[in-house]
Amino acid sequence: MPNEQDTISSFLARVEERSRSFIGYPASKDFNYEELFPFLHYNLNNIGDPMSTSHCDMHTREFEQYVLQFFARLFHAPQNDWWGYMTHGGTEGNLYGLFLARELYPGAMVYYSEATHYSMQKNIHLLGMPSIVIRCRQNGEMDYDDLEQIIQHYRHKPAIVIANIGTTMTEAKDHVPMITNILKKYAIRDHYVHCDAALAGPYLALLNHDNFDFRFGADSIAISGHKFIGSPIPCGVVLVKKSNKDRISRSVSYIGSYDATIAGSRNAIAPLFMWYTISKLGKEGLLQRALQGIALADYAIEQLRNVGIEAWKNENALTVVFEKQSKTLCSKWQLASDAEWSHLICMPGVTREQIDDFVADCTMAKKEEEVVLEF
Ligand SMILES: *Cc1c(COP(=O)(O)O)cnc(C)c1O
Repeated sequence: MPNEQDTISSFLARVEERSRSFIGYPASKDFNYEELFPFLHYNLNNIGDPMSTSHCDMHTREFEQYVLQFFARLFHAPQNDWWGYMTHGGTEGNLYGLFLARELYPGAMVYYSEATHYSMQKNIHLLGMPSIVIRCRQNGEMDYDDLEQIIQHYRHKPAIVIANIGTTMTEAKDHVPMITNILKKYAIRDHYVHCDAALAGPYLALLNHDNFDFRFGADSIAISGHKFIGSPIPCGVVLVKKSNKDRISRSVSYIGSYDATIAGSRNAIAPLFMWYTISKLGKEGLLQRALQGIALADYAIEQLRNVGIEAWKNENALTVVFEKQSKTLCSKWQLASDAEWSHLICMPGVTREQIDDFVADCTMAKKEEEVVLEF
């Protein structure tokens, strides 16, 4: 058995190596949180409601509140009527949004498109809610005609609609006003719209190209913190309307706080990371980072097309979709694929050189394939 030191250095070398070809998953890589490492010596914990005071002082609630405030403004949450907390990722934020919706409207039907992230199906199953899958258009966006047809059929039931703000495979965005118009048209008064904005929410809002935030009919929004903002520890943010949350939360005197969150003990380091990047880069710095990613995605499409590989992307997306590549290539570049397509994601930290190297690999693979075919 090697000693710990050897294990650590060999594992570190492997991580460094694999990080160089990490272009298939939505995680920013351009962070450096060394200044915050001293906090790793302490038992910090943001247990319970981030807005309440707790008997225990070992927390980073003020940093968490800063992060929540930032996203509440960015997503135009109603001024004195929002609440949220930092979750352990997009999945927990989706679970909380769905849970809140279910408590508000027991017996509601959940509608979500076939391009929805698998976490939603899991959450719906966990909460034991009835649901219906809506068809998608070719680009991965919800087919509103299909939604309308189905909602019509169930108009006697409250409706909970999941809007994807950046689907997993093609980063397609569902249009929240289109959804709320359908709800209005069929006079479904008891309705709730949850936005799964895990990846694309932050930069779409920064680009001012959003049509999903609270102004447009969202009742809750969940994002992942380790995706666009970037963090070595998975984390997320969920924002809801405070009046809705107040209707369902119960007081727990044990910790002198309100048990309003799904997790009890909560990560207190991730709020420091989020605060650090947001405070250091500001809205402008974050926007520039998004624009660079979008430009790099355009560059990747151009390069792929130049070598005869079909490639495309949705508007304002960092995700580039292209003809499905071989198993070897997908595993080397850690690409996610479905039946037809593979994708890469130009997250902050992905470089032009990586795209060039990847395209060179694709070209090589294509040539080899042609040789085999000629044979
Ligand atoms: C990543 C992602 C999730 C899940 O988020 P986690 O932070 O991994 O829990 C949910 N929905 C979408 C669209 C995502 O991209």
